Amino acid sequence: MNYGVAMTESVNKALFKHLIRKDGQEDLCFAFYKLASGKKRTVGIINKIILPETGDRNVQGNVSFNSEYLDKVTAYALTNSYGICFIHSHPFPGWQGMSYDDIEAETMLAPRVKAVTGLPLIGLTLGTDNTWSARFWIKAAPKKFESFWCESVRVVGKQLKLSYCEKLLPSQTFGEEFKRTVSSWGEAKQNDISRLKVGIIGLGSVGSLLAEALMRTGIKNLTFIDFDTIERKNLDRLLSASVQDIGKFKVDFQRDRLLSTGVISDLQILALRNSISEIEGYEAAIDCDILFSCVDRPLPRFILDCISYANLIPTIDGGVDTNPKPDMSNIDQARWKAHTTGPERICMKCLHQYKPEDVALQQSGLLEEPSYIKGLPKDHFIHRGENVFGFSLSLAGMEIQQFLSLILKPRGFYYGPKEMDFITGTIDSAFENECSGNCDIKQLLGKADEIKFQMISNDIAAEKIREKYSFSEVKLLNKKNLLKKVKDFD
Ligand SMILES: [Zn+2]
Ligand SMILES: [Zn+2]
Repeated sequence: MNYGVAMTESVNKALFKHLIRKDGQEDLCFAFYKLASGKKRTVGIINKIILPETGDRNVQGNVSFNSEYLDKVTAYALTNSYGICFIHSHPFPGWQGMSYDDIEAETMLAPRVKAVTGLPLIGLTLGTDNTWSARFWIKAAPKKFESFWCESVRVVGKQLKLSYCEKLLPSQTFGEEFKRTVSSWGEAKQNDISRLKVGIIGLGSVGSLLAEALMRTGIKNLTFIDFDTIERKNLDRLLSASVQDIGKFKVDFQRDRLLSTGVISDLQILALRNSISEIEGYEAAIDCDILFSCVDRPLPRFILDCISYANLIPTIDGGVDTNPKPDMSNIDQARWKAHTTGPERICMKCLHQYKPEDVALQQSGLLEEPSYIKGLPKDHFIHRGENVFGFSLSLAGMEIQQFLSLILKPRGFYYGPKEMDFITGTIDSAFENECSGNCDIKQLLGKADEIKFQMISNDIAAEKIREKYSFSEVKLLNKKNLLKKVKDFD
């Protein structure tokens, strides 16, 4: 299992303000977390801080806390089902290891915290340059706790910042393949980018372009989630797909294609033939640091919206909307928009990227019934799907810009949603970048696993496709084996 920690920028700011003191002394505090359990990574989502009051701790020499402070912390954690983080600072920049005293203090705390909360203690150390290190204290045997370093600590706000543990995710020097990229923003930023775990949900026209662009930007760890297969009607918009690829799962096709380029020697791609509402898809998504929403249905968008807020994962979403003239003599209008959604930005619901009633309709299962679909009006989203490769290309470009701007935040600038109007050629940007006051998605902030099982369900459409195609794959396999046998016989 890998471990990680995530917090919002406002939590990070409050911790920094308290812990990095003007007098150069170390300081400490406690915070609370909820667990986010992915398939390969367990993340502590910090969503509340409890700062010490006067007398709660002594900052002269080695900083220490008194038992009243710890009692307050454990009482609060117990009533609110929180895990506990013990956080302190060091007067140096960069990633911080543990001193002898740190190990002693956390070894003493770990069993007490586990006994009260049932959850592992998370220890965190902050460097003066806002670099974080973190570890989980896991019970290995009775009265014996072992610490495991977190591979990264993620801070999510207008910018996405990660502190990486060098031992687990080492930085590297880049070869000739990335010479032009590295010369654009330097090796340090390239190391920030290349170590991100990025997920794409939906490997259609936009998703496959994003996959290509992300690999060529140097991302080494990609997750593809989509249960659909390539159909003839996809060929006008699916990057590199040929008639021979019809019937292949979209995720497998993109994985094999990217691996075969050899651009990144240690490229890892997890290709899942699932939907985001199935547990495999859901858990793989929360293993990522950032997600791309390339789905066109309301239910997966809603689930991604919830995942993003509950697990502090920024999600870049977009869409194309185009109509022909009623007499089909030309295109009438086309717009496409891209936006970074999630904590300390805006959610997809407030951006009207889906309607709650459509989510409910999809959840009802009615959209799986052909007779029901037949009765829906022509302009219902289920019947829509007009799109052109060139529009997808432009949208994917805008989404990659959102992504790079979020990581690099050049000159301190950031931006909100952008919308391209094809007819006039203008890019509009006067959009809201914050949720409305009573937004219910925003209320899910940091809830992590608390919402997990409400989100997960069977996906009949995904099950049907997997069943159909795994059967045809078996047939194909048999044919291959048969051919091989004939050859061997020869
Ligand atoms: Zn220390
Ligand atoms: Zn909202």
